[in-house]
Amino acid sequence: NDDQFKKVISHAKEYGYVFQSSEIYDGLSAVYDYAQNGAELKKNIRDYWWKAMVQMHDNIVGIDAAIFMHPTTWKASGHVDAFNDPLIDNKDSKKRYRADVLVEDYCAKIEAKINKEVKKAEKRFGDAFNKEEFLSTNGRVLGYQEKIDTILKRLGQSLEKEDLADVKALIEELEIACPLSGSRNWTDVKQFNLMFGTKLGASADSAMDLYLRPETAQGIFVNFLNVQKTGRMKIPFGIAQTGKAFRNEIVARQFIFRMREFEQMEMQFFIKPGTQKKWFDYWKETRLKWHLSLGMGEDNYRFHDHEKLAHYADAATDIEFNFPFGFKELEGIHSRTDFDLKQHEEFSGKKLQYFDHEEKASYTPYVLETSIGLDRMFLAVFSKALVEEELENNTTRTVLKLPAVLAPTKAAILPLVKKDGLPDVAKKIVDDLKWDFNVDYDEKDAVGRRYRRQDANGTPFCITVDHDTLEDNTVTIRHRDTMEQKRVKIEDLKAIIKAEVDV
Ligand code: ATP
Repeated sequence: NDDQFKKVISHAKEYGYVFQSSEIYDGLSAVYDYAQNGAELKKNIRDYWWKAMVQMHDNIVGIDAAIFMHPTTWKASGHVDAFNDPLIDNKDSKKRYRADVLVEDYCAKIEAKINKEVKKAEKRFGDAFNKEEFLSTNGRVLGYQEKIDTILKRLGQSLEKEDLADVKALIEELEIACPLSGSRNWTDVKQFNLMFGTKLGASADSAMDLYLRPETAQGIFVNFLNVQKTGRMKIPFGIAQTGKAFRNEIVARQFIFRMREFEQMEMQFFIKPGTQKKWFDYWKETRLKWHLSLGMGEDNYRFHDHEKLAHYADAATDIEFNFPFGFKELEGIHSRTDFDLKQHEEFSGKKLQYFDHEEKASYTPYVLETSIGLDRMFLAVFSKALVEEELENNTTRTVLKLPAVLAPTKAAILPLVKKDGLPDVAKKIVDDLKWDFNVDYDEKDAVGRRYRRQDANGTPFCITVDHDTLEDNTVTIRHRDTMEQKRVKIEDLKAIIKAEVDV
């Protein structure tokens, strides 16, 4: 909900995770900077993905292609002609909306009515209330649900037929039925290309028009044969890459969910034509497992299979995550057939075929793609991790329960007091542990305050050095989530931390 989302944003700032870009100049809309802790968390997510995709798969290799690409790439990929968002302006408020998002907002408003009904019934029936049954039998709720389905269906059909006048008519009808923008004075819906343009070269007449890449995938497609040949890759094999992508998003909001500059983690898996169904199922399952391995709760994920497919795809699904503003796309899994390679063959005039030694034949491989936004993954992890807990003594504590493998700082070493040689022992522990983990040293404030600070920062372990340490070389290790404290030997620390943070 809204409150939780506001807390996420302010916590991300307060604890050095995410800042608005160019904040001293009042920021740049939908552009963000990752701060000292955010950069670590982001890197750890990237590494976690890379390890699962590249290191753990013998037949997947990683590349790092340039952001700039030959402009014909984007002709071939379809982005020049078809990478558009439908836009509509409100003439009174001068506000610009993405038409499809605006329609979804109206649907969210109707959905809020459903939630209200649920709350009412919950109150009325108490323990006897069965939500599933209520949702599937209550007449009013079913009516609302049907309305949402009809609206979204009509939107989908109009967009597919590029009937932009009907999209406008739909918005006008919705505004009358459930006012949202407060004004009914709309412009026509226009298509707007999302790519950022720039120029290569100094002189005006020889300069070449370029685009900042709107996805990382094309850098993989154009390198398909280079990698296959130099890596002596045999089909099926994959090429993975992480890197920045740029989109001139119109409705850039929801914090780092939709940014104008963001990072993708994509993998293109090249397969024999005809095997796409098997690999689609394989990657659906494999990618969901990857998400679940982080232990953020099975209920927070769901598949959303696409009924309406892009022209190049023969199957597509999204892994949706339960963000503070509801279930939204986190990752896409697409069966892209040979569309991309064929397009590049046509536009470049070069063959991009694979010779299959077993089949003794050449063919253009099919492609199965998994594509996830690193920033969206960051938001998913961060927003789910942030909780406020009531403690037994009636106080609350804010904890960032980041999966230990992703936490920016794995352990904080705290001398109980700033004297009697305790800081020296603590610093020695830091010097030893920092070869293996990112650790922090903190001697300021009472130890309870320091624990809270580390909880809010997501640090899985606090290690406290006290006077007994000087006698017996043991320290107290405190676990962030359970707050349980144990006495352990200094020499065992590395293994204890490793057991939790290594996967
Ligand atoms: P959406 O429908 O949300 O705009 P999309 O379907 O255009 O997303 P893809 O082109 O399939 O997204 O990109 C793959 C992934 O890249 C998405 O699942 C998402 O995680 C991420 N992504 C796409 N656009 C953005 C953005 N503007 N900001 C942050 N992440 C993004």
